[in-house]
Amino acid sequence: MRIGVLALQGDFLEHAQMLRAVGAEVTEVRLPSDLEGLDGMVIPGGESTTIARLLIRDDLLEPLRQRIRAGLPVMGTCAGMIVLAEHAEGLDREGLGLMALDVKRNAFGRQVDSFEADLDMPRVADRPVHAVFIRAPSIEQVRPPAEVLATLDDGTVIAAQQGNMLALAFHPELTDDTSIHQYFLRMVRDHQAALVPGS
Ligand code: GLN
Repeated sequence: MRIGVLALQGDFLEHAQMLRAVGAEVTEVRLPSDLEGLDGMVIPGGESTTIARLLIRDDLLEPLRQRIRAGLPVMGTCAGMIVLAEHAEGLDREGLGLMALDVKRNAFGRQVDSFEADLDMPRVADRPVHAVFIRAPSIEQVRPPAEVLATLDDGTVIAAQQGNMLALAFHPELTDDTSIHQYFLRMVRDHQAALVPGS
């Protein structure tokens, strides 16, 4: 399985390392031609305004959007989630705009810049998933066909899925817990199985 990691800015190296640890091959994506032959794609955390600006500058925004619309499984974490959302409060330029979500940048304020939590995500793992939040966004609205995957104890939505697209407000690549990456690879495998008639 070959997974592309958008490598324009942010913590793409940590995602690449974790993907390799769970058995995937990794391509760092910087050019439109890097999108060829991928089975899935990860958009890392970082600075969403910068990632969106570089996607436009490097002519990746439209080709990536088309590939995801055509079914390429994608996981966006933190800034990557902001770039995937239809509406992002505080994002001053166009993102991919593919998931039926309204997100809010830096939703947890300066006092709680970073925090960690153990999340119940029954669809992902049968034990709590350890999550690291860094200047994290929240998901303010989830519209069908997007679905809530996880909330904090106070009800704030911090993970959602819409078919082949997975959005997380936190950083699964900064812990030792590989369950999110394993879940994403299952999404990729299920997508491939659905493409091959009879499998
Ligand atoms: N605060 C960043 C943004 O708005 C996201 C932070 C992160 O990816 N850790 O883009």
